Amino acid sequence: MRTYDVVVAGASIAGCTAAILLARRGLSVALLERSPQAGAYKPLCTHYIQSCALPVIERLGLAAPLEEAGAVRNAIDVHTRWGWVREPDADAAHPAHGYNVRRETLDPLLRGIAAATPGIDLHLGHAVTGLIREGGRVRGVTALGPAGVPLRLGARLVVGADGRASRVAALAGIEGRTSPNGRFFYLAQYRGLPREGERSRMWFLEPDIAYTFPNDDGITVVAVSPAKAGLAAFKADREGSFARFVRALPEGPALDGAERVGPMMGFVDWPNQARPPTRAGLALVGDAALSVDPVWGTGCAFAFRSAEWLDAAAGPALAAAAGDARGEGARDSALSAALSVYARRHRAELSGHAFHIRDFAARRSWRWPERILLSAAARDEDCARDLFAYAARNIGLARFLSPAALLRAGRVNLAHRLRRAPRPEAEAPALG
Ligand SMILES: Cc1cc2nc3c(=O)[nH]c(=O)nc-3n(C[C@H](O)[C@H](O)[C@H](O)COP(=O)(O)OP(=O)(O)OC[C@H]3O[C@@H](n4cnc5c(N)ncnc54)[C@H](O)[C@@H]3O)c2cc1C
Repeated sequence: MRTYDVVVAGASIAGCTAAILLARRGLSVALLERSPQAGAYKPLCTHYIQSCALPVIERLGLAAPLEEAGAVRNAIDVHTRWGWVREPDADAAHPAHGYNVRRETLDPLLRGIAAATPGIDLHLGHAVTGLIREGGRVRGVTALGPAGVPLRLGARLVVGADGRASRVAALAGIEGRTSPNGRFFYLAQYRGLPREGERSRMWFLEPDIAYTFPNDDGITVVAVSPAKAGLAAFKADREGSFARFVRALPEGPALDGAERVGPMMGFVDWPNQARPPTRAGLALVGDAALSVDPVWGTGCAFAFRSAEWLDAAAGPALAAAAGDARGEGARDSALSAALSVYARRHRAELSGHAFHIRDFAARRSWRWPERILLSAAARDEDCARDLFAYAARNIGLARFLSPAALLRAGRVNLAHRLRRAPRPEAEAPALG
């Protein structure tokens, strides 16, 4: 049995990011991917990567190849009952943009960087099937390779980056907490749609949602996420329903002249799901730890970022273990402490977002603080900047809903109302 510092299960966004950053510390990493193809990618995605992921994308050396491959620097306009809310240019406080780039382009580029990183052994076509345990800790994995050839690998840390249906989490007995999602989802890709200045657009129709995302290679992703009350009628004629839904969008795209590329995909039930991100000797990153309603386009950014937080917390402890002569127990304690730091960071960064996304998934319309903030964002650029800083997950829920933000939005709305209020009739001049 070969032993590595780290074994990562899953070579998609979270797994490749974790593997690259850990290997750059001089650690040995086995990266196991179930798919045998280096060019494999996740097709069920609308590929909107929030700007909060830009710093780690740049750190990975992924930004330049993405741009070369035609990734679109994203910005979005949102249709609400108060009118369009236009995302302003970012200020210096936050990353300037995220990317719209098809997973068909992104996943192989990222996996290529991982494969070329010294210290990483990429095992394609290897599905993790079991965990090796010793003294209450996870110490490695078993996997099945091409033609069913078994593989046993030891590791100080095993990382489950194997997505929403994580086998690693199931093998470790880590249960997910789920909460309902009141909407279903269909998406299709088109070539030849007007590109609207390369801006993405999203419609909140209360309760239904839709969006268009221009991507690389002239492809625009069109997605709809209607409330489940309309599911039976929608499913009776999926293609027709999709086209009618998009045609009815205010200022929506004209699908008729565009070429459809590939099949329509979607789901009818996608509960939000969260798992505790650590166990002794084991960490979960990306969707394996948190997988929420995709209408907010956050999963890829959370995958990049959670992998980065794991590296920041556990990387130094793993790197120090090589020179630590205090014995196995001390090294295990140091790693456990580091994993607790990762779990706390994961919670601190994402629990507010996950709470809000879960809450919205179960309702049809906006709550009053959202109404105040959204209506103000339609009327005032600074309020819009805060709204998009939150939507791109550059600020947390507490700041988004802070009394100061609500007060400012309230003032904007009051000024708007006063401007629109009818003026009292001018007094008639006295006769005679
Ligand atoms: C309809 C839809 C639209 C979405 N749109 C967006 C969007 O616009 N923006 C956004 O940010 N997010 C979006 N998401 C979410 C996003 O796709 C995920 O959050 C993201 O792919 C998570 O990345 P990951 O690396 O954690 O997992 P995944 O991308 O799911 O990768 C898991 C990897 O593990 C491998 N694997 C699985 N089991 C094993 C095993 N036993 N052994 C070895 N390997 C294994 C798989 O082959 C895969 O390569 C969307 C999701 C859906 C469903």
